[in-house]
Amino acid sequence: MSNNTSCPNCGQIDSVQSMPAIAATGTSIAHGSNTYTGVGIGSSGTVVPIIASANTTTSQTNALAAATRPAPPPSSVTGPATCGVLLLVVALIMLACLGVAVAFNTPTAGEAGPRIGGWLVLGGIIVLPFLIPSLIAFLVLARRTSENARITRGLTAASALWETAFYCHRCGVCYWPRPVSGVPAARQPLSPYQFQQIVWNAGGYGVGR
Ligand SMILES: [Zn+2]
Repeated sequence: MSNNTSCPNCGQIDSVQSMPAIAATGTSIAHGSNTYTGVGIGSSGTVVPIIASANTTTSQTNALAAATRPAPPPSSVTGPATCGVLLLVVALIMLACLGVAVAFNTPTAGEAGPRIGGWLVLGGIIVLPFLIPSLIAFLVLARRTSENARITRGLTAASALWETAFYCHRCGVCYWPRPVSGVPAARQPLSPYQFQQIVWNAGGYGVGR
């Protein structure tokens, strides 16, 4: 068994690339400028048109780099965080308004009893529709944060396997040219999906884990 980096399927070396090289060449950064149009309110209260431009940076990963990446991309946490905070603020404003309403409608001594229940029902009706989605958003946030932390913890072990592997563009196979701890067999042709599962399982975030 040879100890070079040639493809185990075709035996050639001209179409092989290491995983770090595929990741480097498969990710392109595009810079551009987008123009936005809209309307705004001028200082005198009139409606004025607005044309503005913003510079944008877009990162694109090609299919091969995506299929052989050492870890899944991290889940966004800004969405659920923003959503949870905004909904919580609305719920608190609703609660404050309700508190003011209760304060200004203090019942006289004779009619105190039945009105507390009414306020509680009203409070539930106007506050819970914002409070419950807010709590759900925070639960999603907590789950994504722990998932991202799990990927970060396993990335070192997964990257150690990933960076020693190669890909043959002619045959479309991934392989490890030399025996590596945690890899079933050296010089065994693997599909990008099989390769990804071995690497992701080493990181502790594989599908079959
Ligand atoms: Zn090949």
